[in-house]
Amino acid sequence: MQYTNIFHTLKKELQSSYSQREAETIAFWLLEDVAGLTRSDVLMGRADLLSDELIGRLQQMVRRIAQGEPVQYVLGYTDFCNLRIGVAPGVLIPRPETADMVEMCRQFAPTHIYDLCTGSGCIALALKKMFPKATVEGWDISDKALDIARQNAEDLELDVTFRHVDVLDGSSPPVGMSRRGIGLLISNPPYVCDSERAEMERNVLEHEPAEALFVPDDDPLLFYRAIATWGHYLLSDGGHVMVETNRRYAHDVADLFRSKGYDEAEVLKDCFSNDRMVQCQKISTAVVQ
Ligand code: GLN
Repeated sequence: MQYTNIFHTLKKELQSSYSQREAETIAFWLLEDVAGLTRSDVLMGRADLLSDELIGRLQQMVRRIAQGEPVQYVLGYTDFCNLRIGVAPGVLIPRPETADMVEMCRQFAPTHIYDLCTGSGCIALALKKMFPKATVEGWDISDKALDIARQNAEDLELDVTFRHVDVLDGSSPPVGMSRRGIGLLISNPPYVCDSERAEMERNVLEHEPAEALFVPDDDPLLFYRAIATWGHYLLSDGGHVMVETNRRYAHDVADLFRSKGYDEAEVLKDCFSNDRMVQCQKISTAVVQ
């Protein structure tokens, strides 16, 4: 069957939840992903020549997106640091600010890397690509996330070990790799306060995993305390820590690391000019608090 302007039909349905510009971008993205059409193909009307089956698939995807499912879950992937990262409900969709954090690690020359609360594995995998000789581990408490992360490692042919670890459970003994060489401990842990839910987009709240996002209002730094302790186990002197933070607490996180025996704690800004990362260095193996 010959359609008339399927592109506009898709775009119009998307506009029930997205601005005109966003709807257009998503419609182009879907047509490229599902049918391999470029923007100029679409503008020349080639979308109208697609098979009924493909158009049916596109309409189904658009319906899900218009009802609030994140585009990346519907497509099954997102692009992150030039890697195609598979995502599904159960892992956080990688954000641009997290890609900024990975990029800031280029200044280091780590021989071993631990990514705590790894989720889809995006940070660990991007760092393995950046530092192919480093040994890289990603830890998470969620089996669903670990399945997705392992699948991503296989698809991308990157040698990263993913391990089931409850980062908040300090009683489990440190496992694994040698501390010799310069380590990098990196994490994008949950850091959004429960009270910030009201400011968040519906598609995040209703579809992305709460356990990857939220911390209690009365203890917003709990993951950073645990990460600081892990750093004492996992890093030798001179090892680096890099963490993503809630912009409201970036300076408190820097103070926390200072108080736990780390040096050179510095707050870094993301691509949106928000205080978003803290980097610091371990100076003394003597201080374990
Ligand atoms: N940056 C994410 C957001 O704003 C939160 C990531 C996290 O909690 N680690 O949705």
